[in-house]
Order: sequence, then structure tokens, then C-alpha cells
Amino acid sequence: MKQLEKYSIGIGDRFARQGKAQLKALVEAKKLGVNLVPVWNKSFREHTIVHTDPSTVRKEADEAVNALGWKDPYYVDADHISLKTVDLFLESSDFFTLDVADYSGKPTSEKDIEAFVKAHTSFLGSLSIPGIERPLQITEETVRMTARKYLLAIQEAGKIYRHIEAKKGKGNFITEVSIDETDVPQAPVEMLFILSAIAREGIPAQTIAPKFTGRFNKGIDYVGDVKQFEKEFNEDVAVVAFAIKEFGLPSNLKLSVHSGSDKFSIYGPIQKALKRTGAGLHLKTAGTTWLEELIGLATGESEGLAIAKEIYQKAYGRFDELCAPYASVIDIDRSKLPDPSQVSKWDGKQFAETLRHVPSNSHYNPHFRQLLHVGYKIAAEMGDRYYKALEAAEEEISKNVQENLLERHIKRVFL
Ligand SMILES: [Zn+2]
Repeated sequence: MKQLEKYSIGIGDRFARQGKAQLKALVEAKKLGVNLVPVWNKSFREHTIVHTDPSTVRKEADEAVNALGWKDPYYVDADHISLKTVDLFLESSDFFTLDVADYSGKPTSEKDIEAFVKAHTSFLGSLSIPGIERPLQITEETVRMTARKYLLAIQEAGKIYRHIEAKKGKGNFITEVSIDETDVPQAPVEMLFILSAIAREGIPAQTIAPKFTGRFNKGIDYVGDVKQFEKEFNEDVAVVAFAIKEFGLPSNLKLSVHSGSDKFSIYGPIQKALKRTGAGLHLKTAGTTWLEELIGLATGESEGLAIAKEIYQKAYGRFDELCAPYASVIDIDRSKLPDPSQVSKWDGKQFAETLRHVPSNSHYNPHFRQLLHVGYKIAAEMGDRYYKALEAAEEEISKNVQENLLERHIKRVFL
């Protein structure tokens, strides 16, 4: 059976050009003593916008692994798939993120809900979970409410899982269940019953992606109460460990944090929890690799900088169209966006500093960064012109991609 390693990192790469640079960061991490396996992920949404198909991700991963002589496992993730979109990914993926967030908040049949409540009477009352300070107080209503909110979603996950299993064969792929793209976070007690539901559906989930408290906007830092996040994260780690034993879930089941990238302020608490408990983690980062491409183009001046400026100018003009698919995961204040006429006068250094996620730099602008983050459609439309510019600036970009992944992410979470 394919078994996901203790530490894994989901790496996005919109244009499938930086696989080697990404993998080099993991090679460096290994030299520093952390074994981390790569999971290349690209969602249906991204494939649709860039007009690529999942086989390109498999090709990128295989090529990077061969070029660098990577001997450890690696995976290709069908990211955020549903029953509608999964077929496209069956051949090239060996990791499936079953996204059932759309089904959360919708109740399944009363009969199923009551059966679920009945099956959990032994949990009623005061439940002590090692690692959680105060015992959880569980009433029949707690179980019923959780079932009402999440049982239908997990039943749907079961359908998707069985569909994949029928095609790929049992044990030949890794399963993640994700409910992170919902409006409300799941409390640890809800996680407990969600995990029970997953076990009862017979889904051998190896990772679970809950929605945590706070905002996980794309490409910028966490917005929310870091203390509250830390408490919830620690409790979720404890619930997962408890659920493995209690419900017979895979022993390597671990949390998956869909970070949307760059959640620097919560990396510390996560790192602490991993060290303290010995728990594993899947850290999924979004497509900021593409922003490193832009930074590399901009600092290369001449044609690269012209392209970077043009992408911004067009993104600025197509704000609504580009932001719509990401509405729930970005917060852009339009009044804080520099006017393209102003940007056109910048040199490469200023463009890069405005875009690069270094909060201490006075030029850094998270609004500018988020808009460009969702602006990859413009680069996709440029086609060859964009790809040629990438080739011309390859050395610089490759360095940026590797350094970004290693220094800003891997070292802060896993080392
Ligand atoms: Zn996600």
C-alpha cells in the first residue's frame, strides 16, 4: 500500500517549468537533515485557466526526479477534485484531494443522521483526549449537529474514493479529504466526528485538511488570531492521534494545511507542535512559484521587466474577471493598488520589492501581490512570449524558486 511519509510538501507550479528548482529545495533540506517528500499539485481550476491537462504535471514531476536523481518517493496530486472532475486525473495522479466542502452544511437523510448519533453513544459525556487540556463535553446534540453539517460531505467523499479505487486499485494511491474551502472553521470536536465518519465510509484517508480559524488568503500572510490558531491546531493534532486508534484509521494519518502559501506567522506554532508531538504534516503551498517567476523576470530588466509590467497593467484592467474564481481566498483593497502608469516607471528592483513577500521591506504591497497571484491567466495568454522570457531568465528564476521554498517555508516549518 502506498503510504505517505511523515513530512510532505505540496508544491504548486502554474506553468510546470520549475519542477527541478522546487525539487532542489528538497534536496537541500535533506542535506540539512529533514526528509520531506514532494507532492506536485495543480487543481482543476488552474488547469482550466492555463489550458493544461494533468499529464503535464506528471511529466514535470518525472523529469525533475530523473534530472536530479531523486530516490525518495514523490507524488502527483489531483488537487481539489470532485466526482465531476476526477476522471481527468485518474491516469496521472497517485494522490487525490477529495474536496467535499460544497456539501458541508447540507444535511443528509434523517435516518443516516440518527444512525450516526446512535453509533456514538459511547462518546457522550466527558471525553478526555490526550494532549487536550480540558475534557471535551459531548452531548447527543453535538454529535447530531456535526452529522447534520458534515455527514453528507463525507458520504460524498466516500463516493469519490470508491470511484477512484475502482479505477486505480486499492492501495495504489494516497487519499486526502479536504473541507478547507468552507465558510466556517471546524472545531476539534467536529473533527473527531468527521474522522469517525471517514472511517465508517471506509476511506483510508492519510491526510485531512480542515478549515482553521482565520483568513488564508493566497500568497500573503495569515490574517487572524495566531494564539487561537495555535490552540486549535494543537487540539486537531491531538484529535487525529486519538482518532487513529479509536476508529482504526491509517496510522500515518496527519493534518494537511492548505496554506495558500506564505502563512509565516503560523509557521512557528506549527513547527512547535510538530516538534513537541512528533506528528507528521502535509503543507500545501499555493502557486507562489509563479510569483517567483515574475520577480525573476522583473529583476532581469529589459524584456522580462516589460512583460512583468504588462501583466500587471492587464491584471489591473481585468480585476473582476481574475479575482472572481478566488473571491473567498483573497482580500484586495483596490485603492491600495498602484496605478499601472506609475508602475510603468519602476525599475526591476522596485517591482520585485513591491511583489516579494518581505513584510519588513517598505515597498512590499500585499494588494499588488495578491492581484498578480491571481493574474497568471494573463501570462498563460501570452503563451510563447512568456515562456521564452522564462527561459532567458532561467538562472535567476530557478534561484528564486529554490530559495523561496527552502528559506521561507521548509526551514520555518520542518527544521
Ligand atoms: Zn485547499
